[in-house]
Amino acid sequence: YSRIGSSFCNTLIRYLSTYVGIDPHNSLITKVESSRSSGKSGVLGDTSFIAKDNITTKGTFTTSGSLMLSNYKSPFDATVVDLLEEAGLKLIGKANLDEFGMGSSNTNSYYGSTLNPLYENEERVPGGSSGGSAAAVAASLASFSLGTDTGGSVRLPASYCGVIGFKPSYGRISRWGVIAYAQSLDTVGILSKDVALAERVFNVLDKYDDKDPTSLPESIRTQVEKHQHLSSKSKFVIGIPQEFILEDLTAQARSQWLQVLVKLLKAGHELKPISIPSIKKLLSSYYTLATAEAASNLSRFDGARYGFNDEEVKETAYKTLTENRSKGFGPEVQRRILLGNYTLSSESGNHYLKANELRQRLVGEFNETFRFYNPLLSEYVSKSNGCDILISPTSIDPAPTIDEYKSKSKENFLTGYINDILTIPASLAGLPAISIPLPAAKQGIQLMAQYGDDKTLLQAAKSIE
Ligand code: GLN
Repeated sequence: YSRIGSSFCNTLIRYLSTYVGIDPHNSLITKVESSRSSGKSGVLGDTSFIAKDNITTKGTFTTSGSLMLSNYKSPFDATVVDLLEEAGLKLIGKANLDEFGMGSSNTNSYYGSTLNPLYENEERVPGGSSGGSAAAVAASLASFSLGTDTGGSVRLPASYCGVIGFKPSYGRISRWGVIAYAQSLDTVGILSKDVALAERVFNVLDKYDDKDPTSLPESIRTQVEKHQHLSSKSKFVIGIPQEFILEDLTAQARSQWLQVLVKLLKAGHELKPISIPSIKKLLSSYYTLATAEAASNLSRFDGARYGFNDEEVKETAYKTLTENRSKGFGPEVQRRILLGNYTLSSESGNHYLKANELRQRLVGEFNETFRFYNPLLSEYVSKSNGCDILISPTSIDPAPTIDEYKSKSKENFLTGYINDILTIPASLAGLPAISIPLPAAKQGIQLMAQYGDDKTLLQAAKSIE
């Protein structure tokens, strides 16, 4: 704390007790600590961690950043929490998020906005939706934190807060106990200060879980391990997708980018310009699929079985349902439910199918690009001239101020969605991706690898960190 200044420290603590450790009733950071088993020495020593508040933890509240779940206590721990505690780690708090993971700034939480600890005298967004998880690591409150990444929610906050944000391949880490936003995309991710720790945590969490129907089966895990063992190498072919080269990167970001590319060339890696044409159309595909899944997932919060229940509106079942949902969900969540229900209705034509077709085309283009075959396909064809890794910026800009972000989104809510353009390709294709900080630029650089090739991704990340 002394390094980041005492006035900053006070602000931080004020915000953390309210927002990062969000317990609407009390200070969760202490409460979690006292109600959980104490950390014992295991593979990761006595490291402490913080979990995003859409990851269920027994005995404490899990609010998902929503009034709808302000009183919700899960009767079970998420598999990820169980695995970490079995490895001797200690859960010390829950972190703020955009309500149900919907957002890119952490300004959509019912409990208020988290501040970005990188900026001492300004109120800047930490990115979203795992903004609390990224801020907690940046402020050294825990060794690492868990977030969830549906379309970039681990990588964007990592980029804004100057920490590592790793989203593994879809299905490698269990989603059991993670409150669903869009289940075909939701992935638990890890935020930390260095790649080595993220890797060690990943090794603990990378397990088949029969409670999660989308968990990657053992047979494919074994196949991937075998391939990675046979083909491991230290010099990579690194593709730069032209669709990701942004005109409006800041001068600082450009110069840091160049330094990274020069470092890679000097280390003997090969750089290769490539193209993934579908990227240009992905935002509409992502927001069609994610909102459709969200509308369906959030239908369980009806004020009767789960969630916010205003005693005053009990007159009829219809009123209970509509009024509790209108009061319990914030405006962005309501917008997504409307969009999703529209997409799923016959009136929308075939938006949903078209979005899925685009997703398939994207996966095909990635398969053509990478050297490593896609282990989910029945034919294993490796491309000797393919790329091992792709590289791009993680975010368009460094973190905006909270006021700037809010006023732009008020003018047009789509501005908030545009931020996701760089992160959703890996989400839609289920690829592993990681954001590594470029300190002088105050934003991150993103690496992506073929589905299942998480180990190569982490190895490459270590070489540029
Ligand atoms: N910003 C994106 C959205 O709001 C991604 C969120 C996420 O990954 N949870 O959908």
